[in-house]
Amino acid sequence: MTKHEMPKSRTHGDNAPQPVRTLRDWLDHLAARDRLAVIKPRADLRFEIAAYAKRLDGMRATLFPQPGGHPIPVVSGLISDRGWMAEAMGVEPGEVVTRFQEAALDPVPCQEVTSAPAQEVVHRDVDLAKLLPLPTHNEHDGGPYISAGLMIVRNPRTGNQNVSIHRCQLTGPNRLGVLLLPRHTHMFFEMAEQSGQPLDAALVVGVDPLTLLASQAIAPMDFDELEIAGALQGRALPVVKCLTSEIRVPAEAEIVIEGRFLPKVREPEGPFGEFPQYYGEVADRHVMEVVAVTHRKDAIFHTIVGGGLEHQLLGAIPKEATLLASLRRNFPNVLDVHLAPGGVMRFHLYVKIRKRQEGEAKNVMLGAFAASFDLKHVIVVDEDVDIHNPQEVEWAVATRFQADRDLVIVPESQGSKLDPSNRDGVGAKMGMDATKPLKAEEMTFKRIRVPGEEDIDVAEVLKRDGGVNWRAALKS
Ligand code: MN
Repeated sequence: MTKHEMPKSRTHGDNAPQPVRTLRDWLDHLAARDRLAVIKPRADLRFEIAAYAKRLDGMRATLFPQPGGHPIPVVSGLISDRGWMAEAMGVEPGEVVTRFQEAALDPVPCQEVTSAPAQEVVHRDVDLAKLLPLPTHNEHDGGPYISAGLMIVRNPRTGNQNVSIHRCQLTGPNRLGVLLLPRHTHMFFEMAEQSGQPLDAALVVGVDPLTLLASQAIAPMDFDELEIAGALQGRALPVVKCLTSEIRVPAEAEIVIEGRFLPKVREPEGPFGEFPQYYGEVADRHVMEVVAVTHRKDAIFHTIVGGGLEHQLLGAIPKEATLLASLRRNFPNVLDVHLAPGGVMRFHLYVKIRKRQEGEAKNVMLGAFAASFDLKHVIVVDEDVDIHNPQEVEWAVATRFQADRDLVIVPESQGSKLDPSNRDGVGAKMGMDATKPLKAEEMTFKRIRVPGEEDIDVAEVLKRDGGVNWRAALKS
């Protein structure tokens, strides 16, 4: 995006793009660019919302007035393109990963406020299905889910907060079944459970894309991800204390669901359509009991359709930032990494290097596997290959890779439990060195190139050619 295309509300005196700060600002930004589709009123909460969101994935965010007759609208697909995230950050598309890494390294403490839009309306007698428009997405999902809620909890020992996103299934009027993978939220819950206590929790629905992205940061324990959101937004994020706990939540959020994880209680949750385009299984999982709901007067509910681009990108960008930083510690000549969409933005990593040594690509791929167990296939290419274009990477494999020489297989290693082709998370890694040899004859691996091709303004040519009378054109 060029600077003069920015709307006035998001520019400063120097005309530089500014990061987005609220969900509403972001919807304005999308609507101004014809990227927000308002769907017919009263779309069915069961399947129909997800059906529209999926069909428009990558093209439009979707807004559903009166979903299922409910007064609170639903929105989905807030970020379905890296370029959109770049706009949300106020940077160029190629700077998204770097900007995220900068923010993670330079967090901004939150600022507490005493009154907040997120608490304009208060409900203490909670029936979630009545209060909120909870959609069911996939054919075999176990029921309605809250899929875009920031789960905020505090370390029972230090009081430091953690923010993450979990799938939360409606299992009773004030009950959610929640998948807690063994990370920070789970550790805090275990501390509470060991002393027989519940763990207070707040589930925040309806925040801006930068706060959503910050929640996915791979940060150390006791590091409040909301401080990364502040860094991305370029301000101290305003937060407000919950009504029923010490948790601080984003003050400008749409909806806050307050409650607690119950000790010694596990109940069935699932199935749920997950990012690899398969169902996460049913199992006994943690239970959040809801005690209050607060929201804006005219609240908007956000849902993420599992496996869609929004789901994939929110996870991929922080992972790329972490992988790039990790690889560069040992290989400063790693130029860029990309989690490819065809690999559900988790399993396939493309790495661009400026090769200095023969064999180095294999060291790089082993470094990548060591940095993230989710990675299954890693392809390393030279600096002349565009790793954001899968066809370019396939071209490099087609013309620079030999399976007997350039293939690395690591059998029986830890992978993702959501890859149905491995055995309970144990499977093979494959690395492909698709770099050209350093000592090749100059012309052997020289890419063909037409001088001047890159200077042609395609949009201009296509505009000029639309519906032209070619016979007349030849005569003029
Ligand atoms: Mn954390």
